[in-house]
Amino acid sequence: MSDNTNDTSAVRVRFAPSPTGKLHVGGARTAIYNWAFARANGGTFVLRIDDTDPTRSTDENTQVILRAMRWLGLDWDEGPEVGGDFGPYFQTERMGLYREAAQKLGAEGKAYYCFCTPKELEESRAAAKARGDSFQGYQRTCRNIDPAEAQARVDAGEPYTVRIKVPDERGDVIVHDAVHGDVTFNARELDDFIIFRSDGTPTYNFATVVDDASMGITHIIRGDDHLSNTPRQVIVYEALGAPTPTFAHISMILGSDGKKLSKRHGATSVEDYRDAGYLSDAFVNYLALLGWAPDGESTVISRNRLANEFSLDHVSKNPAIMDPKKLDFINGEYLHGMDDAQFCNDILLPELAVAGMDDGSKHEANWYLMAANAFKPRCTLSRDVTTQAKYLYTSDEQLEYDEKATKKWLAKNGARAALDAAGEALRSLTDEEWTPEAIEAALDPLPAQLGMGKGRVFQPIRVACVGGAASPGIGETLALLGRDHSLARIEQAKSLAL
Ligand code: GLU
Repeated sequence: MSDNTNDTSAVRVRFAPSPTGKLHVGGARTAIYNWAFARANGGTFVLRIDDTDPTRSTDENTQVILRAMRWLGLDWDEGPEVGGDFGPYFQTERMGLYREAAQKLGAEGKAYYCFCTPKELEESRAAAKARGDSFQGYQRTCRNIDPAEAQARVDAGEPYTVRIKVPDERGDVIVHDAVHGDVTFNARELDDFIIFRSDGTPTYNFATVVDDASMGITHIIRGDDHLSNTPRQVIVYEALGAPTPTFAHISMILGSDGKKLSKRHGATSVEDYRDAGYLSDAFVNYLALLGWAPDGESTVISRNRLANEFSLDHVSKNPAIMDPKKLDFINGEYLHGMDDAQFCNDILLPELAVAGMDDGSKHEANWYLMAANAFKPRCTLSRDVTTQAKYLYTSDEQLEYDEKATKKWLAKNGARAALDAAGEALRSLTDEEWTPEAIEAALDPLPAQLGMGKGRVFQPIRVACVGGAASPGIGETLALLGRDHSLARIEQAKSLAL
């Protein structure tokens, strides 16, 4: 635990995606933790687009990331589209700042021009290896070139990179990581690393620190694939004379086979999950709990609670394993927690419309509410509602009977008697009387009358009307289908019944 983890006065955190692709689950979790940490500490959440890699960054990817952030409900206080006092928030618009910072370090003798060609560097490495040196990095060949001479060579057009001087006396760099604890790196191993490439672009380790320092970032929460970059970044902070922030490196998200999450595992991007029908709240809830827990018990944690209670103290450093079953479970919990009107408006009607089944004009408002109430507990994902409702949008003739259900419940002795009795009992109800309660009241006496178990009576009716053996309660199932279709289907199924 680092010394200043708990010093959260004026917290400023940032999420700094590179727009080289979609927002993946690992990045999404990093964004969630940054957002939650800012909210929990009354701080500021900055979104910065690290688009310095011109070959892989695109505007389209930036838009995809912004859309994913909005879908996740992670509002940013500063950044693209909202602005802020520390902009610009795209690295490509900050090139001048990086050059200025490098020039300043050069003038202070903390950075220098290096004229070694790639070939020379390779030869030097090979020689170190041949000598059996444990250190085979940059031999600081250009460190002591007289600055005036170096400038003359630059002015004459000789290609160069800019390297930072890792101070000789620096000793170990100890990163105080809020998740990993103290992690020690040998400064000598760090090389006098390059901060500006020969093509005039800054390296990630330099640009990111110039930005984080000038944006006043206090806590850096990011994936632990960046832990090994951190000592170099610490050296840059020190050279710039800027305070080193608190680091918190969070684990990678792995697939259920323990391997790095990839397309092989199915969905990996936030959009994949959105399109698969997950709710944003449930998805955020699930990812937040992947490696963090307020109490080790709760699986459903509201966004409010996350925003109030998130702290770095309970973040695990162990790799997190993506568990689709748990995500499904949490998604189901969110659906089941909705009231009928919300489920009707936010889930049922949009899903029916998207599936081209119903534009919301086929029934009365109450019918849709009844459908919401009936189907809600049976849905794990939003789109499950269309599977549930399918029997209501099929003509009687085209109803498909599930083979297993037909065999088990219709092609059985007694099924025909159950259908006969049900048809007779239900025919006495009028259209107006066709409610779940009245239907159940009409069917209730049948098992006793027929001397058969409830399942043997009600399941044939269900299979007759739905085509399968699973549906809401028999009263609701038939009430939604309506009197005429219910009676017609009971009649129709008699030909399949024994
Ligand atoms: N743009 C970097 C990335 O996407 C940011 C890393 C960092 O947070 O410093 O990996």
